[in-house]
Amino acid sequence: MLLPDTVGTGGDSHTRFPIGISFPAGSGLVAFAAATGVMPLDMPESVLVRFKGDTLQPGVTLRDLVNAIPYYAIKQGLLTVAKAGKKNIFSGRILEIEGLPDLKVEQAFELSDSAAERSAAACSIKLNEAPIREYLNSNITMLKWMLSEGYGDPRTIERRIGNMEAWLANPELMEGDADAEYAAVIEIDLADVKEPILACPNDPDDVKTLSEVAGVQIDEVFLGSCMTNIGHFRAAGKLLDAAGTTLPTRMWIAPPTKMDAAQLTEEGYYNIFGKAGARMEMPGCSLCMGNQARVGDNTTVVSTSTRNFPNRLGTGANVYLSSAELAAVAALLGKIPTVEEYMEYATKIDSMAEDVYRYLNFDQIDSYTNAASSVIATA
Ligand code: SF4
Repeated sequence: MLLPDTVGTGGDSHTRFPIGISFPAGSGLVAFAAATGVMPLDMPESVLVRFKGDTLQPGVTLRDLVNAIPYYAIKQGLLTVAKAGKKNIFSGRILEIEGLPDLKVEQAFELSDSAAERSAAACSIKLNEAPIREYLNSNITMLKWMLSEGYGDPRTIERRIGNMEAWLANPELMEGDADAEYAAVIEIDLADVKEPILACPNDPDDVKTLSEVAGVQIDEVFLGSCMTNIGHFRAAGKLLDAAGTTLPTRMWIAPPTKMDAAQLTEEGYYNIFGKAGARMEMPGCSLCMGNQARVGDNTTVVSTSTRNFPNRLGTGANVYLSSAELAAVAALLGKIPTVEEYMEYATKIDSMAEDVYRYLNFDQIDSYTNAASSVIATA
């Protein structure tokens, strides 16, 4: 639904936009903004996170870059973990991220979503025009499909389609001034991020490298939440399929949307998860919300969800936050792997990357394009 210049708000701290910018707020303020179209906002300062280098190191995923942000902020003395006298440069500020301009918009969301864990007021990510164009073209088809399915309000959806088409005809992207000043600048060289980084129990800021936590016994694994996209489920599925064994851990799987679940079912991944003994939950927030299913009391868990606050996933649970790829390996081994063990699996995924990390481009899926082509926009 978004355009690159959208300024929005929402009542969930994870109302984070992959393009445009959002300032989540309390429900009163959100209702005020919804009713009036404006909200009072003192524009905060920004913290710039600049990624340098062209390629991720082998086995390193975007989720590891999410965790690299607090990791490098701690190194620079801009963030502390202890609650007493806590220092957090991101708190209440805008997290501006640059240096990863070719991310797909779905991937960019993983970074902007995690701005909530930094207590940032908002997050912006500098992307090139190409991924945004791809995303809007896909969403136009999806919105037309929604019209064909009778979703409302049709005039609002049609207006949105019109705005997207207008942007595509005359694309313009906002960017920071060359001489912009920031509250702090954090530079992260991709060449220096050589292994996965996890958030440790039970604080999203308490980040450590895989080598520091390898060997911890794991009882349960949760693959899901708004931090995941369809590529993560394929990656986990490929690893489980190749292993061909039933899991020594209890693994929960909940894709973020019904459309992801349908696509994964069609591609045979639900079969693979079922055979491995994983438990499939209804698409959506699932365990991350903590009020649907919950992990066992006092268990040790690897999760791909957003935050590992005490008791959120389960009473007394110790929760590590990691990439889906690392979570799948932990599910298979019943422990947090060593770097060597992890890399063995990661190499397999790397070799299948093209097939695994594909996103839902609705303009390339027949069932959506056929329905969309029957819709005549009237706006
Ligand atoms: S998946 Fe978790 S963090 Fe994301 S919106 Fe749902 S409850 Fe919030």
